[in-house]
Amino acid sequence: MNLPLITPAEQHRNKIAIVTDNKAFTYGDLLDISGRIATGLLKDTEDLQQQRVAFLIPPGFEYVATQWAIWRAGGIAVPLCVSHPRPELEYVITNSGVSIIIAHPQFKDTLQAIATDKNLPLILTSETLPNHVTILPNVDMKRRALILYTSGTTGKPKGVVTTHEHIQSQVTSLTTAWEWTSNDRILNILPLHHIHGIINVLTCALWAGAECHIFSTFDAEIVWNRICDGDLTLFMAVPTIYVKLITAWENATQERQKIMSAGCKKMRLMVSGSAALPVQVLEKWQSISGHFLLERYGMTEIGMALSNSLHSQRYAGYVGQPLPQVEVRLVDERGELVSSGTPGEIQVKSPGVFLEYWQNPQATEKAFKDGWFCTGDTAVVENGNYRILGRMSVDIIKTGGYKVSALEIEEVLRNHPDIQECAVVGVTDVEWGQRVCAALVLLPQRQLTLESLRIWAKQQLAVYKIPTRIIIVEELPRNAMGKVTKPQVVELFCSP
Ligand code: AMP
Repeated sequence: MNLPLITPAEQHRNKIAIVTDNKAFTYGDLLDISGRIATGLLKDTEDLQQQRVAFLIPPGFEYVATQWAIWRAGGIAVPLCVSHPRPELEYVITNSGVSIIIAHPQFKDTLQAIATDKNLPLILTSETLPNHVTILPNVDMKRRALILYTSGTTGKPKGVVTTHEHIQSQVTSLTTAWEWTSNDRILNILPLHHIHGIINVLTCALWAGAECHIFSTFDAEIVWNRICDGDLTLFMAVPTIYVKLITAWENATQERQKIMSAGCKKMRLMVSGSAALPVQVLEKWQSISGHFLLERYGMTEIGMALSNSLHSQRYAGYVGQPLPQVEVRLVDERGELVSSGTPGEIQVKSPGVFLEYWQNPQATEKAFKDGWFCTGDTAVVENGNYRILGRMSVDIIKTGGYKVSALEIEEVLRNHPDIQECAVVGVTDVEWGQRVCAALVLLPQRQLTLESLRIWAKQQLAVYKIPTRIIIVEELPRNAMGKVTKPQVVELFCSP
C-alpha cells in the first residue's frame, strides 16, 4: 500500500484503533473493512481517479472505514453533515459533482430521494461487503483527498480541497507539536464533517497509532462519565463544549465533582480551538480540571497555524506561535508587514495550505497574495505571542465553533412568507462565541415568533445556522449609500 496516511496502520494491526459504543476495532479491522468497502466502490474499475464520493454516516467505525475506503480506491472523500437538512446536503452533492453516495440506513430516505433525482448510485452501509480485497490503485500524494465545505463572505459555502500531501503535512505538524504517540487515547465528540474532528482528532490519532474513542453525539453527562473513567490522555473541543461541561460539573454533587476533576487530571493535554476561548472559560476550566487549556488557531483552508506551546508557558487570550512547517505573517491593508504590537491580517504559507476551492478558480485566486493565503482574520503579536482580534468581515459568524455566513442565512430568511427584509449578525456570547441573531422587517399586517421561524428554517438550514434571537424592526439601520450597517444591527441586540 502506498498511502502514507494509511500505511502506518500496518504496524499496529493488533492494536485498538477505534472504540464506539463499547465496541473496539483494531487497525487490522480498519484495514480489512476499508479494503473491502474500497473493493465494492471500485466494482470493475481499477481506480476511482478522484471521483467524488459523498458519505453521510454518524461518527463511528463505519465512518472511518468508509473515509479510508474512498482514499484507498482513489476517490475524493466528501463527508456530509449529519445535522444538515435536505437542501444543504443536495447543495454539497451537486456542487462537488459526486458520483457515488454512501449512507447509513438512518439517512436512507433523504438520500434516496436526492440520489434518484440526480441519478446517482446510493450504497447503504448495511449492505453486504465483498469478502475479499481487490488490488487497490497506487494513489499519488498530490491527488485530491478531501473536500470540506466552509462558509465564505459571499454566496453559498465553498468546497475546500486538500490533497493527501496537504493532510499529511497538517497531521505531522500537529503530531510533532503536541507529541502524539501510540499510547494516546483521545475522545472524539466533534462532528466529522469539519476539520477539527477529522484532522486534529481522528487523522492525528490514526497516524500516531493511538486509540480514538468516538461518541456519535455530544452529551455532557456521557462525556463526563467517560472522562471519569480516567484512562483518556487527550481531549479537544470548541469553547462551547467546555462551557457545557463546566455547567454539568457545576450541577454535579461535590463527591462527583471530585471524580470528574480527577479524570481530567489524568490527561496529558486538553485543547481548545475553532473559535475564541473567553479568558473566563479558560480560568473556570483550569479551576475544575487543573488544565490550562492549550488554545490554537486554524482554519479549514490551512489546517492549524498557531498554537500555544505544549511544555512552555501558555498565556490566556493568546494562541501562541506558528506550528512546525507553518509560516505566518501579519500585513496591513496595503499588504505591508506590520511591526510587533500593530494589528494586521493573518496570512499563512505552509505545505498544509489547501489546493483550491472546488471548481471556483476566481475565489481561489482571490484568497492568495504572492503565495500567502489571506485568512481574513486579524491578529496582533504581543511579547512574541499572537492574539486573535477577530474576522475582518462582519458577515462571517463563528457560533459554537461552526463558521456560518450571515449572507447565506439572510438569503434563506428572505424566502419566508412574512419577511420583507432582514439582516443577520453575530452577537458576542460567552457560551456560543457568537449567537446568530436576525433583525427582521415584516410585511404589513404580519406577525412572526422566534419559535415559528425556527421550525420553518429547520427545513432549509442546519440547526446551528438558525437565528436564536430575532428583533422585529420598522426598518433596518442603513448608511448614506443605503447599505445595512451591521454594527448598528448588533447594537439592537445589545441594548437592554
Ligand atoms: P473553520 O474553517 O470552520 O475552522 O473556521 C476558521 C475560523 O475560526 C478562523 O478563520 C477564525 O476566524 C476562527 N478561529 C479558529 N480558531 C480560533 C481561535 N483560537 N480564536 C479565535 N478564532 C478562531
